[in-house]
Amino acid sequence: MSDVIVIGAGLAGLQCARVLTRAGRSVEVLEAADGIGGRVRTDVVDGFRCDRGFQLLNPAYPDARTQLDLPALALQSFGRGVAVRDDEGTWLLTANPLSLLGPAGSRYLQPAAVAALVRWLAPALGAVPRLLAAPDSSLAASFDAAGFTGPLRERVVEPFLAGVLAEDAGATSARFVRLLARSFSLGVPALPAQGMAAIPHQLAAGLGRPVELGTPVSAVVGDGARWVVHTPSGERAAATVVVATDPRTAAVLAPVEAPAMKGLVTWWFGTSQAPTSSRYLMVEGRAGTGPVVNTAVVSNVAPGYAPAGRHLVQASALLPEHADVPEETVVRAQLASLYDRPTDDWHLLATHAVPDALPAMPPPLEVRRPVGVGPGLYVCGDHRDTASIQGALVSGRRTAEAVLAA
Ligand SMILES: Cc1cc2nc3c(=O)[nH]c(=O)nc-3n(C[C@H](O)[C@H](O)[C@H](O)COP(=O)(O)OP(=O)(O)OC[C@H]3O[C@@H](n4cnc5c(N)ncnc54)[C@H](O)[C@@H]3O)c2cc1C
Repeated sequence: MSDVIVIGAGLAGLQCARVLTRAGRSVEVLEAADGIGGRVRTDVVDGFRCDRGFQLLNPAYPDARTQLDLPALALQSFGRGVAVRDDEGTWLLTANPLSLLGPAGSRYLQPAAVAALVRWLAPALGAVPRLLAAPDSSLAASFDAAGFTGPLRERVVEPFLAGVLAEDAGATSARFVRLLARSFSLGVPALPAQGMAAIPHQLAAGLGRPVELGTPVSAVVGDGARWVVHTPSGERAAATVVVATDPRTAAVLAPVEAPAMKGLVTWWFGTSQAPTSSRYLMVEGRAGTGPVVNTAVVSNVAPGYAPAGRHLVQASALLPEHADVPEETVVRAQLASLYDRPTDDWHLLATHAVPDALPAMPPPLEVRRPVGVGPGLYVCGDHRDTASIQGALVSGRRTAEAVLAA
């Protein structure tokens, strides 16, 4: 019998198991799927690396800095800034102060809007405990309160955040968005050279034994002295069980509430010619134009994502609950207008629709929810902390620390 059974081999479960293993505990990790990583996996399609939904690692995330071997991931950074497509063209807004002086700056960086954005950002750049203690509100209300209005908000910042938050109503906790903004100001989002799946594989290398794949847990039942875990191949028991599944399944296996979930969809296209040499994410800034909210030539940033001489383009859209996945033809047409060139000969490699991409983070957000839910029973995952890689990593680590402390 192991000391601990961890259910789920996403980032949170793997990180929890790794910290427990390092502390000398014997740990079994049971995973329902045919591979590790949960929401962070990479499919290789015709030699292209297609992450299961476009996502990025910010190396400034506190637990990425302290818990991951970042040099081993060989991170490839996006450009620090964003390209915006509006009704009159594409404008590049970068962290380079000189860009403020160009046409993009005069279009979007009016002094009043910049001052309001700086007012909004100020708490994000101060001490974290102060940010966590300050009253929370929705993102939209916090922008209004800072007096942040106009094209910079509507065409640049909100479209960019829609792709990050998987919603465009501004309903997410401003506290959470300020934490993200803090990481954006300290680090540049990047891709591991070999795909996002390199992150869970690095964590799994620190386990004492392989993850048991294809092992869905259907119930966790306490008998007073230990917890019995039901799997198709029989029962397992341990004094400590950590439920590190996705949020919906966690609510089935343990006494926690399922949060609302938000969806995203990514189309991956292979091309023989890159539509641009830009290393920046491009956001759709034309009001009422969709469904794509952002796109990027991923292979300009991470050449290892495409075979030699080919290029990889991602396009991402929101996938609201019960909505159909938008038609590929509509996406191609929008991409043609975003990049100002035909896309008919682009080869669709994969469509990753993830209805449960991120747990909703409405205000007021409690950033560290309890992970102990019964004697010897724990729940971890992004839904206990924040909807991000940072949230999953910190959740796994602090759950392991709670197990060790008990
Ligand atoms: C499309 C997309 C884009 C994203 N973009 C970003 C981004 O750019 N930056 C960022 O920081 N974050 C991003 N995220 C969020 C980030 O990926 C997640 O917050 C994080 O990976 C969640 O990890 P987790 O371990 O909490 O949960 P999960 O990854 O969901 O892991 C749970 C695991 O439990 C397993 N499981 C479920 N049920 C059972 C069962 N009954 N028995 C056994 N195992 C089970 C699942 O198969 C899974 O492997 C994105 C997510 C998606 C989907």
